[in-house]
Amino acid sequence: MAGIVVVFDFDKTIIDVDSDNWVVDGLGATEEFERLLPTMPWNTLMDTMMGELHASGKSLADVAGVLRSAPLDPRVVAAIKACYGLGCDLRILSDANRFFIDTILDHHGLTGYFSEINTNPSAVDAATGRLRIAPYHDFHAGPHGCGLGICPPNMCKGQVLDRIRASAGAAGKRVIYLGDGRGDYCPSLRLGRDDFMMPRRGFPVWELICEDPSLLHAEVHSWADGAEMEETLLRLVGRVLLEERNLPPLDCKLESLPAVAVQDGMPMTLRIKN
Ligand SMILES: [Mg+2]
Repeated sequence: MAGIVVVFDFDKTIIDVDSDNWVVDGLGATEEFERLLPTMPWNTLMDTMMGELHASGKSLADVAGVLRSAPLDPRVVAAIKACYGLGCDLRILSDANRFFIDTILDHHGLTGYFSEINTNPSAVDAATGRLRIAPYHDFHAGPHGCGLGICPPNMCKGQVLDRIRASAGAAGKRVIYLGDGRGDYCPSLRLGRDDFMMPRRGFPVWELICEDPSLLHAEVHSWADGAEMEETLLRLVGRVLLEERNLPPLDCKLESLPAVAVQDGMPMTLRIKN
């Protein structure tokens, strides 16, 4: 296994939309969502919306059906599979919820590629079939204590990233972090000099980073769409793999990677380009 942990945000990173908005819009509850949005935290609102949808006759199967239609760029799927094939440890760190993420990953056959999904817990009420969404961090019991002032009350992704990096499976490994949102800024500040931050260009985390790039220790490599994410991510993974073997840089010639893999006797086949 390579010494690389790839941490993916989910909404607008793995899938190309926000799963919460996708479900609310897809089930015709946009107006209600926008009416309630100023009155409660987003995570609480999503739990409330699941109750509203259930009360209006929308079943869990209806929610799942809408989630399965969320757009996922085939190049993102290819990037995930290639990273996994190269021995990277893939994790998700998302402010969506477990049911939404599991439903989408399962639909696309991607569940087995991730060793860990860090997100807001969800549960189906056995009696009613209504989906409950809870906060990752129970902010009713007390604040998560991040002083940055950007993280939502239910999840500080920076603290979760610290926990991931301190865990037995990830200790000492280099991190590549991909995300788009304001919540992805806190973890980007906590990455080290040997890590990589991949913000989605034109999105909130990229704009925050651009305000003062010197605040980040990690190298920053932006991306705009699935194709550029795939190309950038595999280039960085290839670079780390070469550095692990003390080989000179290949001047970004991705095509050389499979030869290196074969030379090292690694049991994999990698197709970088179609
Ligand atoms: Mg996101």
